[in-house]
Order: sequence, then C-alpha cells, then structure tokens
Amino acid sequence: MKPKRRVFSGARPTGRQHIGNYLGALQNWVKLQEECDCIYCVVDVHALTTMEDVSRLKANIHEMVLDWLAAGLDPGRSILFVQSWVPQVMELHTLLSMVTPLGWLLRIPTFKEKARRQPGNVNYGLVGYPVLMAADILLYKADVVPVGEDQLPHLELTREIARRFHRLFGRVFPLPEAKLTSYPLVLGLDGVNKMSKSYNNHIELAASPEETLKRVMAAFTDPARRYRSDPGHPEVCNIYHLHGFFRPEGVSEIAEECRQARIGCVECKRLLAQGINQALAPFRERRAEIAAREGYVEEVLSEGAKRAHAIAQETIREVKERVGLIW
Ligand code: SF4
Repeated sequence: MKPKRRVFSGARPTGRQHIGNYLGALQNWVKLQEECDCIYCVVDVHALTTMEDVSRLKANIHEMVLDWLAAGLDPGRSILFVQSWVPQVMELHTLLSMVTPLGWLLRIPTFKEKARRQPGNVNYGLVGYPVLMAADILLYKADVVPVGEDQLPHLELTREIARRFHRLFGRVFPLPEAKLTSYPLVLGLDGVNKMSKSYNNHIELAASPEETLKRVMAAFTDPARRYRSDPGHPEVCNIYHLHGFFRPEGVSEIAEECRQARIGCVECKRLLAQGINQALAPFRERRAEIAAREGYVEEVLSEGAKRAHAIAQETIREVKERVGLIW
C-alpha cells in the first residue's frame, strides 16, 4: 500500500476561532485527515514576533485547540501540538538561516507589510519568520502544505531553502507542495476586510446564538440600499455571500428577493444568523463537552508533542550529520 502523504500546517495562537478561520482553513484540515497523515501545530514562537501581550498566550492556545477538536481534528489520527514544545525547530531554524540569503527574506511581501505595520519593532524575528516557517515544514518532512494564496511566496521560499540546502549538503527533505484551500477569501462583517479579530469584524465559532445574532445585525450591507423599498445588489453585500456558506439552499431566493426589494436587510440578517446558529449547533455542543474534560486539551497537546518530537529528533540528527556537526 502506498504510504500516505504527510501534511503540515500551523496557525498562530489567536484564541477562539471565527467563521473565517473555519471556512478558510479548519474545515479543509479536517477533510485532509481522511487521506493524509496530518500534523497541525500552534505556532507560538511565530506569535512572539508581533504579539505585544504574551500573558494571553496560554489561554489563546487552549481556546484555539478546543475549537480545533470541536471542529473535528482528531488526535487519534493527527498530531496536534505546540511549536515550542518541540525545540528542535529552533535548531533547524538556525541551521537553515545559514543557507538563506538575506535578500530572499527582504523581498517577501508579508515582511514589508509587517514592517510597515509595526515600524517601532522591526525585529530580526520578523525578517527570519519565513525561515522558521521553513523549519516547521522541513523538520517534519511534510509533502503537502495547505495554504491560502497569500502564503504561496512563503512556501516557495521553503522550497528554495530546501533546494539550496540539498545543493550544499545533499538531499534530506521532500520538496513540499502547496495545496490551495478550496474556499475563497471570507470577508468580515464590515464587508471590506478579510474576516479577522484585529478588524473586529468576525463571528466566533463558539459565540452564543444571541451574540451571533447581535454581530450579524450590526454588519454592513449594500451601501446603495438606503430604504427597505430600494432594490438591492446582493453581489456587493457580504451578508449575501455568507448566506452562500451557511444557507446554500436559500441563497438564490435571497438574491432574487433582495433585487426586487421583497426582503429587508433586517429580515435577511435574521435568516443568516439562524443559518449560522443552526450550522454551528453541533460544533458548540461538542466544544462544551470537551471543555468540561479538565486537562484534556493539554493531554492532547502533550501526546502530540511526543509524537512530533520523535520525527523531529530523527530529522535534526540527519541534518546535523550533513552539515558536519555530528561525527
Ligand atoms: Fe444584503 Fe440581504 Fe440586504 Fe440584500 S437584503 S442588501 S443581501 S442584507
């Protein structure tokens, strides 16, 4: 039987996940478990490059992994762990930094963007971020990395770093392939920016039905529709697009009724909130059950770290031999 391909993906510890995280990545991660050996990692070291309040780190990891488990990531099949709990990643990061020309890192668009956003803290970690990312992927010898389009330059850089390492020291790593996530960008409730906690335009998966309704009711809609009697343009309205995710059976009817002003935005939003609450009810129930099992999340992460450590240890030994640090 052909061995399963190994998938690696990581996410920064942002705490409770929102529907954009679910539609854009999480549901894809859950599906990948059916055909691949998956390793999913909370990248806490990456978070330190920009995080100002580290006091939230532990709680954010706990809340995020609770969401992962409730969404269907299965620790019986996949390895779930915290990046810093397997410190070989730091070693590999250092060794890979020796084969990575600085020019490659400075031209990465996300570095320029981050440097622009935090001009007072353009730290080395920000420049080296893609090398740490390469270390994550290569340490576990991943074949496949699920990514959004914005992450493609990072993955290409990982492949470049691996190729250069191979030219200098011989082949060690598979060249990881990108698996583009099948869902498009999910816009937030402001209808302008990508759904994100930093824009406060999100709906948490674990929000209560009342909270969900409240947030949906405050969302922006078609700006040209000022009165209930104005015909709307659903294609420019994010509420309409969210109907497509959560009430696909009713979405063409909403478009028609909106264009003919047969439905008002208040009613349309109420229907969407109902759809979201209905779709997320099983998730929310599972999450409450898991949250009630004291110490369970930490147990999962600790077990995952042990399994990840076994792979990491083997790779780092091989790398150190190649670069002449073990003789
Ligand atoms: Fe958007 Fe619905 Fe209002 Fe149309 S009726 S503008 S789709 S919220």
